[in-house]
Amino acid sequence: MKYDIVIIGGGPAGLAAGTYAGRSRMSTLIIEKAKIGGQIVITAEIENYPGEVPGDSGPSLIDRMSKQADSFGAEKIYDDIVDLKLEGDVKTVIGTKGTYQAKTVILAPGAYPRPIGCPGEQELVGKGVSYCATCDANFFEDMEVYVVGGGDSAVEEAMYLTKFARKVTVIHRRDELRAAKSIQEKAFANPKMNFMWNSVVVELKGDGILESMVVKDTKTEELREVFAPEEDGTFGCFVFIGFVPNSGFLEGKVEMENGYILTDDDMRTNIPGVFAAGDIRKKSLRQVVTAAADGAIAATSALHYIEGI
Ligand code: NAP
Repeated sequence: MKYDIVIIGGGPAGLAAGTYAGRSRMSTLIIEKAKIGGQIVITAEIENYPGEVPGDSGPSLIDRMSKQADSFGAEKIYDDIVDLKLEGDVKTVIGTKGTYQAKTVILAPGAYPRPIGCPGEQELVGKGVSYCATCDANFFEDMEVYVVGGGDSAVEEAMYLTKFARKVTVIHRRDELRAAKSIQEKAFANPKMNFMWNSVVVELKGDGILESMVVKDTKTEELREVFAPEEDGTFGCFVFIGFVPNSGFLEGKVEMENGYILTDDDMRTNIPGVFAAGDIRKKSLRQVVTAAADGAIAATSALHYIEGI
């Protein structure tokens, strides 16, 4: 038995759990698949995390969270978890690089950006198609950019893109945005912002770089092709149409609904000693603050569970 707690996922939920677990003197391991931070590292500006300074970015917030977990002794490693044995007092987590054992497991693997799923999309990722404005905005300096989606992410990231692009057009499948009214007001007042209503992207085209896209009118079913301006040769297509839970590896291991883990108020799953936190949970508000809160509760519940065995 090496650890008291193994945490799967190094986003705000996993890092907050790591901080609380480490601070309670529990031996703690955070296992992250790709990059510490989760979705928040692709967020340009955080406005609503309590105490956040205006203009502060996702990467800077996550850097502080990560260092905080380190300071309380939480270990971090990178591995891709492929299997778990969660029943019984000793939990085994199996990755492509190693096998980890613990008294408790906190599942915080988060979610990933939902792709459009249209022809050409995958081939053109990084060649005009992007899911991260913070990462790729500077490639479109003084160019035209399209943003697919109508939620908070789409509209906020579109406004961030106006700092770089000469024109930003939001393509939304309805004629009304889902984004919060306060965000909409700022967007409608921004002279660089344009809106293409009742529209969906059905194909992305280009030979090594995005050159055009086919857009369908959701009311008339009419198709039209939007081409890159001749002087640019390409344009950006940023996709923000929600997220998909990273729960494929948990299928059959814990109780889930539509890919989201079911927990009680103390973040307990249906398996004793196994907890879940953050966007992977079935819940109504997925934000950094709720992910961090889940992580704190999950670590505290794990501590109580360990005290009881
Ligand atoms: P979201 O709220 O689920 O919005 C997804 C948007 O994409 C919706 O407008 C939806 O259209 C559209 N959409 C979904 N599937 C589509 C498809 N296949 N083709 C075309 N359009 C599609 O996702 P989000 O904006 O990423 O936000 C996720 C969560 O994070 C939300 O709870 C949000 O409030 C939160 N968030 C908060 C902030 C903030 O508070 N500052 C910032 C970012 C995100 P419909 O509207 O027609 O369904």
